[in-house]
Amino acid sequence: MPEAEIVHSVIARLVAEADETQTHLIHETARRAGYLWRCGNPACPTYNYQGQRYCEGCGWGREGKPVGDVHPCMYTDGQWARLRRALLQHYAPHSPMPDALVFDYRGGPGWRGAEVTEMRGGMTEAVTGGFGDRDRYERIAAALDSLSKWSEPSYGEHIRVVLTS
Ligand SMILES: [Zn+2]
Repeated sequence: MPEAEIVHSVIARLVAEADETQTHLIHETARRAGYLWRCGNPACPTYNYQGQRYCEGCGWGREGKPVGDVHPCMYTDGQWARLRRALLQHYAPHSPMPDALVFDYRGGPGWRGAEVTEMRGGMTEAVTGGFGDRDRYERIAAALDSLSKWSEPSYGEHIRVVLTS
């Protein structure tokens, strides 16, 4: 069993036997020992395992702000800018704008089939159906198709676009 899995299962078992105060103590001790990191969002109490890129509870990073863009390096700056532009236009009439959007690819017609999550003020919310519908989300769908045409995403691949700065 890899160390990360052992850490998960040990901490989960300890926490299952603990009350609230003890849980906090277990998490803090595990953090000091380097097994967990504390979310940097002051509104979010979540501890996360090493290796997680951003907080499971809210999507912020350990630095205390919504984490930066993540994109597979084969895409060009132009393609990337096109997607960001399309998303900004889509969200402009809805305020507040999400802090960031995450696309998780688990199958479907390229990036257009990705599961989409909005990160907003320390919360994450799934966008039901994502941006798969070409008629409803013309520009976003076109930008996503352009990425997919350039290079098909593979299972588990992941992009994140920060909209606010
Ligand atoms: Zn958090």
